[in-house]
Amino acid sequence: MIKTSVFAVICLTLGATFSAAAAAGEPELVVYSARKEHLIKPLFDAYSAKNGIQIKFITDKAGPLQVRLIAEGARTPADLLITVDAGNLWRAADAGLLAAIDSPVLQANVPGRFRDPENRWFGLAVRARTIVYSTDRVKPEELSTYEALGDLQWKGRLCLRTSKKVYNQSLVAMMIARLGEEQTAKFVRAWVDNLATTPFSNDTRVMKAIGAGQCDVGIVNTYYYGRLMKKDPSLPLALFWPNQTGSGVHVNISGAGVTKHAKHPQAAVKFLEWLSSEEAQRLFADANMEYPVNPRVKPDPRVAAWGEFKQDPINVSQAGRLQAKAVMLMDRAGYK
Ligand code: FE
Repeated sequence: MIKTSVFAVICLTLGATFSAAAAAGEPELVVYSARKEHLIKPLFDAYSAKNGIQIKFITDKAGPLQVRLIAEGARTPADLLITVDAGNLWRAADAGLLAAIDSPVLQANVPGRFRDPENRWFGLAVRARTIVYSTDRVKPEELSTYEALGDLQWKGRLCLRTSKKVYNQSLVAMMIARLGEEQTAKFVRAWVDNLATTPFSNDTRVMKAIGAGQCDVGIVNTYYYGRLMKKDPSLPLALFWPNQTGSGVHVNISGAGVTKHAKHPQAAVKFLEWLSSEEAQRLFADANMEYPVNPRVKPDPRVAAWGEFKQDPINVSQAGRLQAKAVMLMDRAGYK
């Protein structure tokens, strides 16, 4: 309830401000963001200071923002949608909410596998979903691949986040793209058989359970590991990069697209281009301990310290394309 009313108030304010600024003819942009305020506001402020463009924004979870964009249709004030996970970006594009952009700048700054093949969304930061293990009870030599977490040696020692969240849906979708449904189902069932306990609601809980001795290995996004270790550096946890002699680590993106009904489409493209630039990339990726999508920008030293690794080269749009299949597969495998 509280969340809804706060959201409503913000929207009203946004609408009012939008009209006032539009009337005054001031340049402005409206952003809907599933990325949290503290991660994006510094970028908006930097861009406003540089270009004199006011950026109005609301933040919410990816699902509600998409519902809102559909409901608003052509009347939406939103110029840009910023969200996490290629699965969510794919869904927004599939629902016809994003416009295709022909931008040589974005083509140059965002590697092909991190953008929509039809140019309706672009990755802005890269996150790796990898194995985390107990440094007390596991030697890294015992680890190899995501798939091998289904081996007998991990019986009763594996912790996973729920299959209801998009990150694991995308991970499994990418496995389907690589291995096919039958093989993937076999591995997912083996994970379920090895679970130490019911899946957790988030990645941090997975790591805390490993730290507390409830289980020994898990799969998490690297930035959650970075955040937790910053808070408690004594936790006996480490990251492992799996599938290094094969497909590589599963990587995903947070990214953005210009809305189909944007009122300031040119300004929105310019802003998106700036977000992919060397100047903005550091701010965008480092704030959340992610990897810059622009290969000319180096990751934050805290992130670089986790080591280099081979990434899965498949286009992340597969995570969206195969998501419905992944959800059904996980359901059939008894992965809650
Ligand atoms: Fe996250």
